[in-house]
Amino acid sequence: MAGSFIDSVRGIMRQAVRFLLPADCAACGLPLSDSPIPHFCVGCWNSIVPITSSRCARCDYPFLSPAATSHAPAHRCQSCRKHPPSYTKAWTLYPYRSPLREALHLFKYQGKVSLAAPLADLITDRLPQFESLDVIVPVPLHIDRLREREFNQSLLLADRIGRHLGLPVSCTDLIRHRSSPTQISLKRKERLKNLCGAFAVPHPRAVAGKRILVIDDVFTTGATINECAKALRKAGSSDVFALTLGRTMDAGHVPDRLVQRRDGRPPS
Ligand SMILES: [Zn+2]
Ligand SMILES: [Zn+2]
Repeated sequence: MAGSFIDSVRGIMRQAVRFLLPADCAACGLPLSDSPIPHFCVGCWNSIVPITSSRCARCDYPFLSPAATSHAPAHRCQSCRKHPPSYTKAWTLYPYRSPLREALHLFKYQGKVSLAAPLADLITDRLPQFESLDVIVPVPLHIDRLREREFNQSLLLADRIGRHLGLPVSCTDLIRHRSSPTQISLKRKERLKNLCGAFAVPHPRAVAGKRILVIDDVFTTGATINECAKALRKAGSSDVFALTLGRTMDAGHVPDRLVQRRDGRPPS
């Protein structure tokens, strides 16, 4: 209740600031006018559409053809068959492309934390059916990165999802004890090497037997989520699930038929 009141006050203040200092949409450059979303016009924000194609039952990788799962809904992608991940199931909700890409960039790298609420809303709008969960754990940042950025974007999202689901959020059950360069420019092998052993569970009894949902902003190769799940399982947790807002995909792998408008209508 207090959170929604604060969000309303922030919304009113944002409108007042826009009246005095007009701003443009970070994606299309048009004036924001009365958009309720910080930094984005309503048209651009509504163009963030979920992935709806048939997907890998384990890592949520979108298949180009629905034939992959039409007779075998539990079909897994080649990568999951070859290297089964440590997590039980991952959900990746939206293609990581414009304007979601710009929004996450502003949120993460330019400190626009006012985007936490609308980005978390994108997640809570599309929450999968979870069976019982005990705790939500955001992918942790190393302390050096946290000092530099001053916040953990995954924790800001996890906090809102936890409130929505009525579940506790822990930022102490899993820590990143090894600093590593940003993953974004690395290839798959380099990512795996970079992340190996980067996460640790300081108090294994805190996670023992628990069903855990790990939250991150973007799923690229899944290496980060997998290393988190590996550390939690090694410490004695029960199933680990993963939920990420965006999924990187080749542009050619995201034909419009794979997505639908958030209002349920097909893309125009
Ligand atoms: Zn726009
Ligand atoms: Zn897979």
